[in-house]
Amino acid sequence: MFADMEQMGHEQVVYCFDQTTGLRALIGIHSTVLGPALGGCRMWNYANEQEALRDVLRLSRGMTYKAALAGLALGGGKSVIFGDPVKHKNEALLHSFGKFVHSLGGRYITAQDVSISNTDLLHIRKETEHVVGLPADMGGTGDPSPMTALGVFNGIKAAVAHRLQQDSLRGVRVAVQGCGSVGTKLCHLLHNEGAELWIGDIDASKTAPLVASCGAKVLDSEALLPAEVDVFAPCALGAILDDTSIPQLRAKIVAGGANNQLADEVAHDQMLRARNILYAPDYVINAGGLISVSYEVKKLAGTAAEKTTAIYATLLEIFRRATKQGEGTGKTANRLAEERVQRQTHASARICNAS
Ligand code: NAD
Repeated sequence: MFADMEQMGHEQVVYCFDQTTGLRALIGIHSTVLGPALGGCRMWNYANEQEALRDVLRLSRGMTYKAALAGLALGGGKSVIFGDPVKHKNEALLHSFGKFVHSLGGRYITAQDVSISNTDLLHIRKETEHVVGLPADMGGTGDPSPMTALGVFNGIKAAVAHRLQQDSLRGVRVAVQGCGSVGTKLCHLLHNEGAELWIGDIDASKTAPLVASCGAKVLDSEALLPAEVDVFAPCALGAILDDTSIPQLRAKIVAGGANNQLADEVAHDQMLRARNILYAPDYVINAGGLISVSYEVKKLAGTAAEKTTAIYATLLEIFRRATKQGEGTGKTANRLAEERVQRQTHASARICNAS
């Protein structure tokens, strides 16, 4: 484990076990250099401890990169609870987890992730104040999806400016996969700027309203990938970009809100570049939700919408650097995030030496 932590740059992994409730959980703290480590808690029926450890290490590092490139004074963390959410999740277990989070004194701040609902978060909140992403009527910032969609919209504009050399979205053809909370709001923003929309969702009730309100054309899931469009915007599942799907794409840009879009973050970043498809790294373009909840940690200068709009400039910097270096945009984004963390590490070391 220490070899993995050293290789990925982690500070701490906390093993949580409670005999009474049966809680088995891991809290991964990748970095607190920029601020307290923030990241959601997921519950999953992991096949073994190794699988859970890999997940928590990978996801917590991702949160450090995401916060760093969103310009937030936050570090990266994540937690995983072992078990089948349907069979093993109960109030006592969540309280027990909350106590472990509290014991870290704010080094780690938890939030919602896979299989952890708003109600679950409220149980955890009874044991610790180090929780964000609460509903608006509980003092939280509420639904983050409008801010996520705003960030994705700005990211698409940056990608269009870089790849198509066009400032306006008028007439730009966008295929949106997944018309849930993020996808629907994104469609409205794109439609208001004159983009033409093709949409797909496994749930037909999600697409019908967008046909009426945005003039979107519906395609089935298989037809969406090879659609003759400028932008493919994945807003449904992770791991959508793989050896099979990338060769099918006809879009010049991939820019959407889904998490973990690349099945293999190195190979598929390179594959997209080799096909001259501009990829907006998922954790950069979808950071609006994190920006939104970060206002629950502390009051920041400026509004969440202003910070989210800055995703445009961050992505342009990534695209220009990647072009100059001749490398995939995912690789460039990771390096830029690491540079931001290192700058802070060096600044802190200078202050220590001076005092
Ligand atoms: P959601 O559940 O509201 O919407 C997802 C939609 O995708 C649903 O309508 C679902 O029917 C559809 N879908 C599922 N499988 C599909 C498939 N194979 N083809 C087409 N459609 C399919 O989720 P959301 O909150 O809109 O989030 C969408 C994505 O963005 C997720 O990957 C999520 O992790 C990511 N994300 C969301 C936020 C946020 O603020 N909600 C923030 C960051 C990242």
